Amino acid sequence: MDRNCHDRQSWSLPRRVLRAALDLCGNAVRRIRTLGWRPALIGLYVYFGNMVLRAYNRLPLAARFECPCCGWRGRRYLFHDVIGYYKTDSVCPDCRAHEKHRWFFLFFQRKLASIPPDGSVVHFAPEPWVSSMLRPKLGRRYVTADLCESSVDLKADLAAIPLRTAAASSLIVFNVLDYVRRDLVALGEMRRVLGCEGVLYLHVPLRAGGKPTLQYSCPDPLDSLHIRKYGLDILELFRKSGFRTALVTPRSMFDRDEIQRYGLNRDGIFECFPA
Ligand SMILES: [Zn+2]
Repeated sequence: MDRNCHDRQSWSLPRRVLRAALDLCGNAVRRIRTLGWRPALIGLYVYFGNMVLRAYNRLPLAARFECPCCGWRGRRYLFHDVIGYYKTDSVCPDCRAHEKHRWFFLFFQRKLASIPPDGSVVHFAPEPWVSSMLRPKLGRRYVTADLCESSVDLKADLAAIPLRTAAASSLIVFNVLDYVRRDLVALGEMRRVLGCEGVLYLHVPLRAGGKPTLQYSCPDPLDSLHIRKYGLDILELFRKSGFRTALVTPRSMFDRDEIQRYGLNRDGIFECFPA
């Protein structure tokens, strides 16, 4: 190894540490200015907490968790910084899948056999963990779509889907509807694209305690820039749009040990069928 190369390597670690420290400080200052002290302190807590958890996972202890998306096994998932609050045992240290991504992955692993054998499966704002599992199995029938991302197969606005009526046999729409201003129009479009058969798989986080949908006046930076947080009255939207709906939860598909091992929460997935 020549001397210049050795010097570069010996400086690379301090440089990375310095850059990480500057990023951390910059992020904390930005949050204090725009959101206040609490989100800034949460960011710092999660950052240092995750350093501790990564070290803890290196200890030779029996694994408690297993990530179905990448196969990682360990004692603790990482904290998830949700800006206004944080979640414990949420993020896979290896592939960064959150509990909802692990749930979507497992859901389709089990559901794959019941997806109609012909017709397109259109996946809006595709989660890479689910996409990398479905694409090899469905081949050219699997179509990814997004309004902003350039790496997808189809550029599409959920409120004006550029597909003919009854063009798709399945639609996958996870964590999208709560960003769409005209949600009733978007659901009508999904119903049109499915025609009289097929199924819409839809997920949105729901408010706890049966509270009604909360509409924000603008995208809420403390709630991942959602423009609303749905309550169970979303069922009325499905009905108005011509869907009959069933809610599938992890508890209805997995036993207690599996739910604990994969670190799943109580979020469900709506299966919506044309009425
Ligand atoms: Zn993983």
